[in-house]
Amino acid sequence: MVPTKFALLVVSLLPALLAAPHPDNPVVFACLKSETYVMGGVLLSAKQAASQIFDAIGVQLRWSCQDPARNAIVIRLAAHAPRDFRKGTLAYALPFAREGVRITAFYDRLEPILEDHMSFAGSVLGHVLAHEIAHVLKRVDSHTDTGLMRARWSERDFESMRFHALRFTPEDARFIRECVEREDPVQ
Ligand SMILES: [Zn+2]
Repeated sequence: MVPTKFALLVVSLLPALLAAPHPDNPVVFACLKSETYVMGGVLLSAKQAASQIFDAIGVQLRWSCQDPARNAIVIRLAAHAPRDFRKGTLAYALPFAREGVRITAFYDRLEPILEDHMSFAGSVLGHVLAHEIAHVLKRVDSHTDTGLMRARWSERDFESMRFHALRFTPEDARFIRECVEREDPVQ
């Protein structure tokens, strides 16, 4: 079992390792604060998957909780959703907040989905993070009919995450990049 798991880990990390962010692309900082135990390696590969999704639309998503001046988008990974809170919601964003915790994700709701897609669980969580980060960057909570910004993902959508095939629509990609260029803390 160990070689199989190792092989899966290498395969799931490979796209992130191959994606070389362009240094001139505008930068967004995000900070993930987990309040619960997450199965091994998933957080790291989730961050890499989210960065790769943004890299594909010409935005550098860097992970850091160190520098408050960067005004990183803080993501709280809570152990449990409040009882009866927005049934079926895995995570939510505060698109109009400009500081503090702007995204909250619920691990008790995510965990069964991650376990169902164990071999690419990091990618699934990375897509969840990318979706919520996009809400913050766009400052809207609206959704699209296709792609990463759909309000609800089907099993087919989850399966496509195995191959990093669920993406922003071209219109979303352009708009997100424009929003980031306006507020890039590095430029
Ligand atoms: Zn959404």
